[in-house]
Amino acid sequence: ENAIEVRGLEKTYAGSGGNAPNRALKGIDLDVPAGSIFGLLGPNGAGKSTFINILAGLVTKTAGSVRIWGFDQDVNPRQSRAAIGVVPQELNVDPFFCAYDALEVQAGLYAVPKAERRSMEILRRVGLEDKARAYSRTLSGGMRRRLLVAKALVHNPAVLVLDEPTAGVDIELRQMLWSYVRELNAAGTTVILTTHYLEEAQEMCDRIAIINHGEVVACDDTAALLGRL
Ligand code: ADP
Ligand code: ADP
Repeated sequence: ENAIEVRGLEKTYAGSGGNAPNRALKGIDLDVPAGSIFGLLGPNGAGKSTFINILAGLVTKTAGSVRIWGFDQDVNPRQSRAAIGVVPQELNVDPFFCAYDALEVQAGLYAVPKAERRSMEILRRVGLEDKARAYSRTLSGGMRRRLLVAKALVHNPAVLVLDEPTAGVDIELRQMLWSYVRELNAAGTTVILTTHYLEEAQEMCDRIAIINHGEVVACDDTAALLGRL
């Protein structure tokens, strides 16, 4: 069973300011098995963020199809969006909300009923319970990262996607993020992460796709893939 099924996915960014159009994704076919920790490995500019932003519904695809948890993005946009939570690469947090309210607002966006919200519990899980009433703008980079993880989890998504989760993160937070990701995965969440570090993909992932210049150049179970490198 696949958590994600992508077929013939293409993205061409329109050129602006006299620049030529940019073919960021050139026909991606990819299956992410349910229950796996799946790594998207590739250099800067390979198309990883574009791929993830399409999964998240933040960037419109040019061609192809995307199924998330069995829901086709074009046919069932609401259900496919509800099945996925994305931790973005940028540490943008809303300066006007405290950490708790940021989660409540996010829960509202996903129409999570009040009785089913677990904002304090999620803050506790990422070690931010002391910061529940602190304004997001006063949080350190590491705390913002944790708040973004918490936000991605408010609607209890089947699939959690982390875009370069350890970029600019110290060793302590990295360990914490990884142990939390492993816990979520053990509890049934499918995890997709992007990285440009082979060691990181090797350490964390069951299966790895290598993406370069908008194409998948290899995809296999981690041990098999490493055996061929
Ligand atoms: P879409 O096709 O999804 O509408 P656009 O091609 O309109 O995307 O680009 C969105 C915005 O991103 C534009 O304002 C563009 O100037 C800007 N942009 C252009 N090149 C890059 C780049 N390499 N990285 C990030 N943003 C870029
Ligand atoms: P990665 O995440 O692997 O670094 P990206 O998906 O960010 O790769 O970028 C893939 C290609 O698409 C790059 O050439 C990048 O410059 C281009 N690109 C990314 N975002 C935009 C945008 N909004 N507008 C135009 N080009 C973009």
